[in-house]
Amino acid sequence: MVEKMGHSMRAKRSLGQNFLVDGNYVSKIVNAVHPEKDEVVIEIGPGRGALTRELLDRGVKVLAIELDRELVPQLRDDNGGTGRFIVVVADASEADIRKLLDQFYPETPTAKLVANLPYYISTAILQHLANERHCLSDLVLMFQREVVERITAKPGNSERGYLTVLVEAAFAVERLFDVPPEAFRPRPKIWSSVVRLIPKPTGPADDAAFRRLVSSGFSQKRKTLANNLKAAYPEPTVALADAGIDPKRRAETLELSEWLRLYALLADRIEP
Ligand code: SAM
Repeated sequence: MVEKMGHSMRAKRSLGQNFLVDGNYVSKIVNAVHPEKDEVVIEIGPGRGALTRELLDRGVKVLAIELDRELVPQLRDDNGGTGRFIVVVADASEADIRKLLDQFYPETPTAKLVANLPYYISTAILQHLANERHCLSDLVLMFQREVVERITAKPGNSERGYLTVLVEAAFAVERLFDVPPEAFRPRPKIWSSVVRLIPKPTGPADDAAFRRLVSSGFSQKRKTLANNLKAAYPEPTVALADAGIDPKRRAETLELSEWLRLYALLADRIEP
């Protein structure tokens, strides 16, 4: 579905195109990136280039990943003259970021990343970025506010789920600020929130077995941890007791450190 924009191009709702039009929020997001002259910043979904232009004005090199090829000629016209703008057409939920950096900026071991994420695919992109985090140093991401509430939900909060634990295992998370619907065209129905993610080193978040453990723990949110784990592990109550975790607890009450303890105890018993 498309929406008329009073602009030569139409916004494609199917691609989550809600463009930032409020310069104050553009500056706030770019300030959060702390751009330094000549560093490389990866931008997912540059759209019409609101964040891109501000990043380039601050002297950085922008490596943009945009799925909608129709936006690319205008992006190149507007920004190519700086000599610091590269845009590739790709799906950010699958893009090999290491390969892109090696191709365009081989001297850059890690880069910052910024994105006003398309909502329809933001959790898939986030899970992909958890896998790709070793070539990233600092991520400033805008999501719909519900997603940020989910990924920052503390133990005991019913919003806490698989995505929360995966993100905590992969990143240090800091909620920055909220952005109202009026800051976008077309205007979304919901508020957005911006978070900073700082990648953690390689660890359980990279293991398929850890992800399976957390996913089975949350498989039925009303059930106890022991009941959920039973489907995937022969004697979960023994491991839970060894980890000092009451088997009657629900998955949403566990802290990251408890998941990690349980994983260490179950690791040998999980099929690879
Ligand atoms: N950054 C611009 C801004 O702040 O105004 C645009 C943000 S808009 C919410 C999301 C952008 O992501 C759109 O330009 C859309 O075409 C692009 N996009 C959608 N799906 C994508 C995907 N899978 N990979 C890369 N970009 C995508």
